[in-house]
Amino acid sequence: MSVNLLDFDAEGLTAWFAQQGEKPFRARQVLRWIHQRGECDFKAMTDIAKSLREKLPALAAVSPPPTVSDTLSDDGTRKFLFDVGNHNAVETVFIPEDDRGTLCVSSQAGCALECAFCSTGRQGFNRNLNTAEIIGQLWQANRALGFQPGGERIISNVVLMGMGEPLANIDNLLPALRLMLDDNAYGLSRRRVTVSTSGIVPAMDRLSESCPVALAVSLHAPTDGLRDKLVPINRKYPLAALMAACQRYLVHAPRDFITFEYVMLDGVNDSDADARALLHLVRDVPCKFNLIPFNPFPDSGFHRSPAERVRRFAAILISGGIVTTTRKTRGDDID
Ligand code: SF4
Repeated sequence: MSVNLLDFDAEGLTAWFAQQGEKPFRARQVLRWIHQRGECDFKAMTDIAKSLREKLPALAAVSPPPTVSDTLSDDGTRKFLFDVGNHNAVETVFIPEDDRGTLCVSSQAGCALECAFCSTGRQGFNRNLNTAEIIGQLWQANRALGFQPGGERIISNVVLMGMGEPLANIDNLLPALRLMLDDNAYGLSRRRVTVSTSGIVPAMDRLSESCPVALAVSLHAPTDGLRDKLVPINRKYPLAALMAACQRYLVHAPRDFITFEYVMLDGVNDSDADARALLHLVRDVPCKFNLIPFNPFPDSGFHRSPAERVRRFAAILISGGIVTTTRKTRGDDID
């Protein structure tokens, strides 16, 4: 049966090549062809022995998820939809900024966590993406954005903030993260790869031990009572456990702070008292806050906080000594 080489990190590819009687340096060569040059045709891998080039197509393929659509927004945001079978598509978004290009990658088709304000959560869970489907989004976007091997990096940062809860799919996520960091693949620094989680505490500890990249935590509420409603996984891993996990994470983290994501919901979690309660909650966790204007969708039952409310909320956090940014809304014209 043909294997998909996008499913393997360096260690996995070396083991697979060993099974074929090939030396480890062959795995490194092929890894570079696939990920650094975006090559999927074994015949084009010219520094590999001809006998191996001829043998590989019968055994393996480089098969990223096919592109369903590729839409460019007025502000330069580019949204891809990739087919992951059974009429499911996942989205990947490229966000160009002056000093960086960030790719937002999905980790699951749908999501099981049912956060109250999230349209993905409302759609339900379909399945975990495999490693090839996660890294394949980066592979495809790199090619679509016209990167040149050895040329300037177009995608400088990757955030796992698309569809799904990445840490609910950590077995398939870890090899994809290792490829992002591998100098024979994408060579990104650990500071430039961010996993966003709603707070699956045991998996946060595992990530910290296995592949400690930057961490963002979707907080969205200052108290267990409210967070139980907005982010139901809180009933399993309440705020005290989450804050303790954040402190443990920081021991190995590439940055000396956790980013807390906080969606601003009008009249729900955006009062002055909420901001002050947040300051108390995170008092022992070095952190930054990223306030996110709510993106309305039909029947969500929530509204975006007014801009003045967001400014006031940010001012309270800043006066408490916390670096606070407010996310720009981008790509609105492409949903
Ligand atoms: Fe949505 Fe993320 Fe919550 Fe899943 S974990 S329901 S994708 S906000």
